[in-house]
Amino acid sequence: MKAADFEARYLRVDEDGDWVMNSLPCPFLALDTNKCTIYEYAPKACRQFPHTDHPNMKSILPLTETNVRHCPAVYEMVERMKLSADI
Ligand code: SF4
Repeated sequence: MKAADFEARYLRVDEDGDWVMNSLPCPFLALDTNKCTIYEYAPKACRQFPHTDHPNMKSILPLTETNVRHCPAVYEMVERMKLSADI
């Protein structure tokens, strides 16, 4: 499949100007197994999720704020950061 065809079929540009999947759940998620059907080709953002080891966490604060609502690991990391910062 050509990149342009993939973009037209699966992607859209969101309100922040980022390319995202055009449907939820992701069209590559096998609902019966809850596994990614393209795991070996999954986009970088998928492979790096939940981004808790990002080299510059400050630069992805809005993304982290979103992920806190969806990922228990990110929630736990932020809670620990708040404790260590005595917030
Ligand atoms: S890992 Fe990425 S490509 Fe695979 S199902 Fe999840 S969101 Fe879709």
